[in-house]
Amino acid sequence: MSKSEQLEQIASEVRVCTACLLSRGRTNAVPGEGPADAAIMFVGEAPGFHEDQQGRPFVGAAGRFLEELLASIGMTREQVFIANVIKCRPPANRDPLPEEIVACQSFLDRQLEIIRPKMVVTLGRFSMARFFPEARISQVHGQARRFEGMVCYPMYHPAAALHQPSLRRVVEEDMARIPELLGSTDQITEYEPPPQAEQLKLF
Ligand code: SF4
Repeated sequence: MSKSEQLEQIASEVRVCTACLLSRGRTNAVPGEGPADAAIMFVGEAPGFHEDQQGRPFVGAAGRFLEELLASIGMTREQVFIANVIKCRPPANRDPLPEEIVACQSFLDRQLEIIRPKMVVTLGRFSMARFFPEARISQVHGQARRFEGMVCYPMYHPAAALHQPSLRRVVEEDMARIPELLGSTDQITEYEPPPQAEQLKLF
């Protein structure tokens, strides 16, 4: 099977998945979309209202902002793969529950394994936690780190910038650094958990 066919296979499984209770409230599952050879993969949190209606990721206001951000670095959404940690919409857009994240995890893991992007840009704290569970987004956004062989770059979720205007410039500045980082991924160092996380592991 080609990489595209493997991704379509995952999407087919996602559309009929009933592994968690979010399957009961969805209109459409949202597997993710984009080219199988994308250099950049954006990973958000979960579908919202518009995504659930259309079965496509980032098609509401946050999606329009993401497209603006991509345009600011000379890219379009057709050039990147866009997915979410959770593939079905949580009721009233609440935060995903730990058991929902666990139930859905293998889909994103398989997408990452097939695409093997040059850079994974995490959007928001739930997506960041897939790679850097001990990190705080306020401390690590805009800093690329290597994790499990992938270059990960945490950013705030575009929706957060829409709700908090003070974050807008931060998000724009973090996005502006991506082209330079993509050109120097061999210089990006391994992720090291913050010291307090290391201490907690001792107990
Ligand atoms: S959120 Fe994920 S695990 Fe839950 S039903 Fe949807 S696809 Fe399956």
